[in-house]
Amino acid sequence: MRVRVAILGSTGSIGKSALDVISRLKKDFEVVSLSANSDISCLAAQARTFRPKVVAVGNESLVPGIKKLLPRGVRVVHGREGLNEIVSQADVDIVVMAITGTACIEPLVKAIGSGKRIALANKEALVSAGPIIMNLASLKKTMIIPVDSEHSAIFQCIDASGGAGVSKIYLTGSGGPLLNVPKKDFDKISSSRILDHPKWKMGKKISIDSATMMNKGLEIIEAKYLFGIDDSAIEVLIHPEAIVHSMVEFVDGSVLAQMATPDMRLPIQYALTYPRRSRSAVKPVDFVKTARLSFRKPDYKKFPCLGMARSAAKAGGTAPAVLCAADEEAIKWYLEGKIKFSDIPKVIEKVLVKIKVKSKPNLTVGGILGAVSWAKEETRSICCR
Ligand code: MG
Repeated sequence: MRVRVAILGSTGSIGKSALDVISRLKKDFEVVSLSANSDISCLAAQARTFRPKVVAVGNESLVPGIKKLLPRGVRVVHGREGLNEIVSQADVDIVVMAITGTACIEPLVKAIGSGKRIALANKEALVSAGPIIMNLASLKKTMIIPVDSEHSAIFQCIDASGGAGVSKIYLTGSGGPLLNVPKKDFDKISSSRILDHPKWKMGKKISIDSATMMNKGLEIIEAKYLFGIDDSAIEVLIHPEAIVHSMVEFVDGSVLAQMATPDMRLPIQYALTYPRRSRSAVKPVDFVKTARLSFRKPDYKKFPCLGMARSAAKAGGTAPAVLCAADEEAIKWYLEGKIKFSDIPKVIEKVLVKIKVKSKPNLTVGGILGAVSWAKEETRSICCR
């Protein structure tokens, strides 16, 4: 029997790549449900190709429009309840979580609660609610397989060694589009250039995160929770060639690295086929052509988001959720042209200093969602000034 897949966020960059992977592995996988927030023409085209049973759209007003575009027999659901329904259906084996931002927290919790295997492309949910999500996954005995390329690499290295003896994680990053731009010139760079990442084709939010290096900061917190390793044992390395997707050092001094041509279809496919490997469309690395693999320390002064993420990781409680939400909201304002690029870290910092972080041992999903809305509201009021 084919593995039955639900894709949340199918019209985004990761969602499209996931469908591309599945179209090449038709013998092994079938798509049973798809969801999109608002791009109904793309969602309908995907439904005509992949014939899911159900599609979900962001809100009720989109339902009549998509119904006209869908093939017969495809059911339409909408909003929060729609997503909750998709991720808990009995005929779903794997849920690909490719929704951007903190909006993924609820459906992810629901999917894990329903015992589904998770291919996790969203990082904000885990960053915001890591301990809750990981506890629930272990309680439900369900696997969360990371799709984020670095975390897929770490997952593969740890898995290859049987899981024991990890002493350090080297989290690599290409450095983003502003690596070689002096900080004083950041605001001279157009948002369209910032959205055009040199190594990875990605969605808008993550492309801005990559430019501020908040992406790497969030990935530190993501790795901390996913692999149960202290953040002090996670080191960020700038690796502009983007061939080594991360490395794991073991107690005996050995280091394992996962390498591949940068292409998100590879970690997506591995999350679907794990523990097997299948042929893929990704070209193998040409080491002679690459010639050089270089590594250097990141510049915490130039990219203050990295340090803020480290502090939030240390603080724990609601701090990572606030970091995530403030970042998400600040990026929205930036993309609308209402704040400057250099304002993004400043705004986030202003929100972070306002939290009274106490370690909250009984943090709930509701508590996290409350912190998220508080942080977004604070961010808006700071951006308005
Ligand atoms: Mg990544």
